[in-house]
Order: sequence, then C-alpha cells, then structure tokens
Amino acid sequence: MDRRKFLTATAATAGVGLASACGAPKGVGEGAPAVVTQPSITWRLASSFPRGLDTIFGAAEVMAERVAAMTDGRFRIRTYPAGEIVPGLQVMDAVQQGTVQIGHTASYYFIGKNPALAFDACVPFGLTSRQQAAWLMEGGGLELVRGLFADFNITSFPAGNTGAQMGGWFKRQINGLSDLQGLRMRIPGLGGEVMNRLGTTVQVLAGSDIYPALERGTIDATEWVGPYDDAKLGFHKVAKYYYYPGWWEPGPSLSYQVNLDAWNKLPASYQTIFAVAASDSAAVMQSRYDQRNPQALRDLLSEGVQILPFSDDIMVAAEGLSLDMLEEQAQADPAYRKIYDSWKKARKDAYRWFATAELAYAKFAFPRSM
Ligand code: CA
Repeated sequence: MDRRKFLTATAATAGVGLASACGAPKGVGEGAPAVVTQPSITWRLASSFPRGLDTIFGAAEVMAERVAAMTDGRFRIRTYPAGEIVPGLQVMDAVQQGTVQIGHTASYYFIGKNPALAFDACVPFGLTSRQQAAWLMEGGGLELVRGLFADFNITSFPAGNTGAQMGGWFKRQINGLSDLQGLRMRIPGLGGEVMNRLGTTVQVLAGSDIYPALERGTIDATEWVGPYDDAKLGFHKVAKYYYYPGWWEPGPSLSYQVNLDAWNKLPASYQTIFAVAASDSAAVMQSRYDQRNPQALRDLLSEGVQILPFSDDIMVAAEGLSLDMLEEQAQADPAYRKIYDSWKKARKDAYRWFATAELAYAKFAFPRSM
C-alpha cells in the first residue's frame, strides 16, 4: 500500500471515531479498547502433604504459578502444606465446608466417606500411572468420580502421579508368605488391609514417626513412596532390604479437590486456565519423579541397599485378596458397582494392550542395564 492510499484508508476508519467526538451517540465499547478486565481472585489450597515431599507439594506450587502467569496475576492460589490450615487428613472436609477452595490430596484417604473414592487415586493391583490417566481423562473415569464428589459439593482434577511405588524397607529378608506372619509393618489404607489378611501386624504411623519406630525396632518394615522420597527419610540406614513392587500403589493419582460453589463462580476463562494448569502440574510431577527416582536408586545401591522382588506366592496371594475385596464392596453397594465396573473393564483392556508391546520391550531392554 502506498502512502496516499494508506492515509485515505486511515481517514475512513477514523471517521467513526470523529463522528462520535462530534456528538453522535456513543455505542458500547466504541472509542475504548475492547478489553474486558477479569476479576482479581485469591484462593487457598490446603495440601495433605508436607513441603518435604517436594515433588508432590511442588506440583501444587507449579499449578498455582501457571494460573497466576496465565491471568497476569489476577487469579492467585496460595498453597499451604499439611497442618498449616488443617491437618492433612481433614483437607476434604475443609473443601466441602469452603474453608479453602482447593484440597491437594489423595482421594483414598477418604474411603471412610465413600469407599469408591479410592478409584480416583488407586486400589491394590490397580492401574499404572498411564493407565489411570487414560481411564480418568479419556475413559469416563473422571466423570464417574466427579459424580461421587458432587455429594460433597466438590469437583476434582487429577494432580499428578508418583508412578509405581516401592514395596518398602524390611529389616530382614522376606522369602515367602510365611515370613509375613507377625511381621510388624507400617502400611496404611487398603494395602494395609490386605497385608493384615496375609498375617502382618499392620501399623499406621505419620511420616515423621516412621524412622524412629524402624530404628528402635517397634516396627520391622515400612512402606513410603519410592527411592527419591525414601532416601530423604533415611530408611536405608536402619533397614537394608528394599522390596518391590508396591502392589498396593501401582500408579496412585493425586487430586485437586475443588469446592463446587467457588468453582461455579469462576469466569469460564479461569476455569479453563485452572484445568490447563492442573494438567500441566500433573505432567511436571510425573517427569520429576521419573528423573529423580533413577538417580536416588543408583545412590541407594551404592550405599549397599539390596533391592529384591516380593516372592511369587506373596504376589499371587495379595492379588487374590485385593481383587476379592473389591468384588465384596461391589456386591454390597450398587453405587460402588457402577464405578467399579467401568474401572474393571478399563483395567482388563489396558492390561491386554500393555502386556504386548510395552511389556515385551521393557522385559527385554530394561534388565540389560541392571
Ligand atoms: Ca506408599
């Protein structure tokens, strides 16, 4: 466009503004930049986890940073570790009551409120991280889970996964089922229930109480997370046998539980931004664990830790009891049955697929680097 044509075009456009300036009635938005300012909102997030679990707590911080960045700081989420606003296991109540807008937690902590909430996180012999994400995000799982949360005035978003956990630290070798008899082990939740049925004396201890109990010998074994988190608590200094896999947590998915009233008041753009930030924080958490665990495992091995698989008889007995437990629940409760059936089908299909290419590659390639 040459200069003369440009000036003519500009003058024609400017005419509208000039007419307004000369007293014509002003239309909505006319003469002003078409920018709608979104409201400034501050939410509080109460986590069930301490800062020390930095990969997990860090995911909530990543989510909050992303939300602030995408809203030019207008939507802020303040993150509080367990105990600062409410104790870790009261997070869901705090969200339901609106004390905080978001709870950052694992839904299996709340099976006392509804046993089917476990499927939002994981159940023993359940799905791996990728399989759980596929079922939640693309297989109808999240919709079913949100149906359960609606009874508590809550909606939920996946918040990251640790990947398959380790089976934990044992002061002596466990060569088979008989070695579990009378063993005193710290293991919470449904895994603890199954271990109890296998003859183990189950103890539930908070994170900070585990090391002293193991050191004093009040417990013989404990589970926690995986090499990166376990090494920080120093379990390898008082127990040298490190077993795998943590069949009770093959792919635990954490959650952002959001108060529904607060959620419904958010502008639609903030809702989308929150969902995107939640999803990104989940991806960051998984990548961090997948990067940090291999290094931590290498360091633990260099300190003389022995890593050992649970024996086949333990695995087979634990699997049988775990799946029976889920069937029992489903028979007793039609609402549980509904979500269980969806999960069970997803598990069957996913296992068949993952047993082909993924497994064949892993079985061939991974052990060659041991
Ligand atoms: Ca664990």
